[in-house]
Amino acid sequence: MSDAIQPSSLAIDGGVATVPEGPPRWPGDDPEVLAALEAAYRDGSWGRYDGPNAAALVAVMRELLGIEQVSLCCSGTVAVELALRGLAVTAGDEVILAGYDFPGNFRAITAIGALPVLVDVVAGGVTIDVDQLDAAVSDKTRAIVVSHLHGQLAPMERIMVWARERGIAVVEDACQVPGGSLDGKPLGTWGDAGTFSFGGSKLLTSGRGGAVVTPSAQVQQRIKIHCQQGNHAYPLSELQAAVLVPQWRKLPARHEQRRQGVQRLLQRLHDTGLVQPHETSESQDPAYYKVALWHDPAVLTKRTRDAFVAAVEAEGVAIGAGFRGFAARGASRCRKVGELPHSCFAAERVMLVHHPVLLEAAETIDRVATAIEKVARASR
Ligand SMILES: *Cc1c(COP(=O)(O)O)cnc(C)c1O
Repeated sequence: MSDAIQPSSLAIDGGVATVPEGPPRWPGDDPEVLAALEAAYRDGSWGRYDGPNAAALVAVMRELLGIEQVSLCCSGTVAVELALRGLAVTAGDEVILAGYDFPGNFRAITAIGALPVLVDVVAGGVTIDVDQLDAAVSDKTRAIVVSHLHGQLAPMERIMVWARERGIAVVEDACQVPGGSLDGKPLGTWGDAGTFSFGGSKLLTSGRGGAVVTPSAQVQQRIKIHCQQGNHAYPLSELQAAVLVPQWRKLPARHEQRRQGVQRLLQRLHDTGLVQPHETSESQDPAYYKVALWHDPAVLTKRTRDAFVAAVEAEGVAIGAGFRGFAARGASRCRKVGELPHSCFAAERVMLVHHPVLLEAAETIDRVATAIEKVARASR
């Protein structure tokens, strides 16, 4: 028998898993986070409304991002809503959003009473298609939400030029890409406001949390006023801030480590030609919260995308399906520009490898590639 790997050898069919130890725990061990927790205990800041840690977090973000105004808040989802409020979006306004995006971004717009206007993503990608934007504009258009997703970056320069010409404000959702840059400029600092998430699965985590950054003191002031509802209504705690400071400090080093891990993984997968990885261009330095792979039902005929994901998961790899997208949302909840075919395509085909393995040894990353290759061979 020449073809060594038979379908029956897949872990999902009772075979031996390629990564028997399973995906690495996230967050992993971090002595500097432990030290920060102990310090917060000793100085009592863990139990106070205000203390030194939030200020230290704001300072490190200012330094690393090179941006003046930072508002800390309770989640990335709320950060997107606060960014829109800071940009003076109000009920009845329209906000442009891609038909494939994080579900909370749709909610952030409707939470204000504004209407999401959906445009398609680029063909074979997951970021907003700039060529579609003109068709989305009405006299009610106030803002656009642009997300960098799955290691793919939206063309911020083109988007900023387009938006400025029309007086439309830009929210740059950088929740998946802290530490990345585009044309040398940190992601999250291109827009009129940028958002970050510190949720439990994210690259920087305090379990929950988020932030809005902006070059505008006026935007910052509007956010502050909205949050001040007797007390801060959407706070990030001192304890959360304490553990985020050392994570921001080591972000550049970890970013480089992940970048090399992705390169290795994609190189291996590219050689097999079985699943299509996304490629990036020279000027892009994306961060990787998830690594996108594309399931092609014409090649992987024996397994649907979801069955493929389940089989790779059984091999001990943290992988999942992409977002569901908004194409099926009703006309009472949003306005759509066309049928959003590329958003549907992404929603049906994207598979996402979760980031923690990217910080592991090359040998572990190779086994992840082997696991995906094994399932792909058995799915043809
Ligand atoms: C995770 C995420 C958010 C929201 O962050 P939470 O802190 O989980 O609310 C927003 N946008 C994108 C693109 C995300 O991946």
